Amino acid sequence: LSDLTARALAALDRDRLIDDLGRLVRVPSQTGAERRAVECLAELCAEHELTAAVHEHDLAALRAHPGYPGEEAERHELVGLEATLPGAGRPEAAGAEPAASARRLCLAGHLDVVGPGAAPWRHGAWSGAIDDGAVYGRGALDMKAGVVAAVHAIAAVKAAAGAAGPPCEVVLLGVSSEEDGGLGAFAALERDDRFDACLIPEPTDFRTICAHGGALTVRGVVTGVSAHAAFRLSGISAIDRYIPIHAALAEVERAINEHVEHPLMAELELPYPVLVGQVRAGSWSSQVPDRLEFDARIGVPVGMGKAEVRAMVEDALAVAARPGPPVELRWVGGQFGPGSTDADHPFARLVTGALDAELPVARRPARQAGISYGADMRLFTERGIPCVMAGPGDARLAHAVDERVRIDDVLRTARMIVRTIVAFGEEHAR
Ligand SMILES: [Zn+2]
Repeated sequence: LSDLTARALAALDRDRLIDDLGRLVRVPSQTGAERRAVECLAELCAEHELTAAVHEHDLAALRAHPGYPGEEAERHELVGLEATLPGAGRPEAAGAEPAASARRLCLAGHLDVVGPGAAPWRHGAWSGAIDDGAVYGRGALDMKAGVVAAVHAIAAVKAAAGAAGPPCEVVLLGVSSEEDGGLGAFAALERDDRFDACLIPEPTDFRTICAHGGALTVRGVVTGVSAHAAFRLSGISAIDRYIPIHAALAEVERAINEHVEHPLMAELELPYPVLVGQVRAGSWSSQVPDRLEFDARIGVPVGMGKAEVRAMVEDALAVAARPGPPVELRWVGGQFGPGSTDADHPFARLVTGALDAELPVARRPARQAGISYGADMRLFTERGIPCVMAGPGDARLAHAVDERVRIDDVLRTARMIVRTIVAFGEEHAR
């Protein structure tokens, strides 16, 4: 344990951490309406004497960008925060590069949250209530706890480093629009992507997530020939034609999950799900349906390109539709690629080590894992920035009623981030 780590861990203030989390949870920030939460985060940064800027991104330019990741929520503006703790740089030995070359660590977190749902909450959805050792409210776990823990960790490292400055530059990105595709992180990275590594403190149950699958949304139309039910032999049912198409999609799922190469993804029961989530067909019982529409979500394996998966689906459905007319396919809505950082990468090992130092003995050693759903992580790894996710609580609680995060886990997250910042800086200084 380095001196700087010990001093920074001692500088963390548990009560203030929980107060700040409650404040941020009490600001509703459903995807598309994040401005007030971004402004609240800017206030928190200022109170911790961190320099923060709120950026208004150019939505029209982003929507026209070839790398545009898509979006689903209604949106009139896109706001994000960037806070920077400048690094002291390397010791300036003779011939060393100047301090300006200090490595930069990004801590990224989203401020948007999903809706509260229709079921009643034990405490209000935006209560920030403290009960039974946990902070309650939509977004408490996913992922305002991680964002507030990052602010406190950066401030603690700043206080502990004093005039000497921290051993690396740390940049906090507070982004919008994660839940509907990642436009906020995409916009932030278009402004500034000079990062040597990134940690996203999403809820991962304190595992280091090194890989996640992607997801493509596709809409298909199957056509038939209408006829009265009494003369159905003179028609062609679009529903009957869909049955082999449904089976072909199941076969795609089987194929992409058959030989899973990534060892962490291979541990999952179903690494790359394919799901038909909606089917619409027919108008009444006595008419042969001449049209069926379906919406499907297709997993994208780590190591495969989006285009490759699209071609695989298109080929499979072309065969399944014979001898009738082809299925019309449109790739609409979210089009997310997979993301991965080598589990042996020094940064993945560093974060896992920081987790290991903070987990209770019974939960050690800290584990690395892959997950089957997409996240902002891919936007970093696509740019060659090593990126992992690690944070508190079970992601399955994240979008549920009575979402909450344990206070002990929020503090544990801040401590894990302190260790990550200092170890990242000092690793380079050695
Ligand atoms: Zn999240």
